Amino acid sequence: MYFGYAQNESILSALEFLTGKVSTELIPFLNSNYLVHPEMSAGLEALINAAKTAGLDLAITSSFRSYEAQKLIWNEKCQGLRAVLDSNSQPIDLANKSKTEILFLILRWSAIPGGSRHHWGTDLDIYDQKAISADYKIQLIPSEYEEHGPFVDLNNWLNQNMQKFGFFKPYLLDNGGIAPEPWHISFRLLSDKFLESYTYEVFVDHLNQSNFLLIDEARENSREIYQRFINL
Ligand SMILES: [Zn+2]
Repeated sequence: MYFGYAQNESILSALEFLTGKVSTELIPFLNSNYLVHPEMSAGLEALINAAKTAGLDLAITSSFRSYEAQKLIWNEKCQGLRAVLDSNSQPIDLANKSKTEILFLILRWSAIPGGSRHHWGTDLDIYDQKAISADYKIQLIPSEYEEHGPFVDLNNWLNQNMQKFGFFKPYLLDNGGIAPEPWHISFRLLSDKFLESYTYEVFVDHLNQSNFLLIDEARENSREIYQRFINL
């Protein structure tokens, strides 16, 4: 299903879908706990099978993430219960930072609740199960996907092959907003449509209806957040 936000009858459901507040359209991928958009399922299965042929065990570590789940991560970072990392994956001391500075530091690695591509069921964080031992703790940091990292082979293979299956990496280049995320892939046919529906007005409506830590700063900086971290 695609929707135009302008269609009055679907405004509320579109907003709730785009911001991860409802997930009724999504289905479990194969028999897993990972929720995905039903129109992505076949493409994802084909991608995984092709990776297998190339000797890789492409596994999912995150697919759909709800608004509530993103809010939990976000609030923990705001409260200092979860590390806020710099561009070199090192923890930042937030003690002398203003609230607005903290907001933008968190945004480099974490989406604002309601502003994650993971809300759509079209985006995944992936790794190579075969490349690590059972006790390896996946960190999702760039060095794991670069030379000498365990997932470099998967990363190279994806860069060569994922387009054939409809996937791309939305966070590949560092444009000063979200840091590059080589583990994050997106099913373009669907996610482009959802991004198009996710207008600035949707984002403002969402912020006005939501409550999480640093919400006042988020409302004050809504235009910049939308342009740098959502509408990429
Ligand atoms: Zn991701």
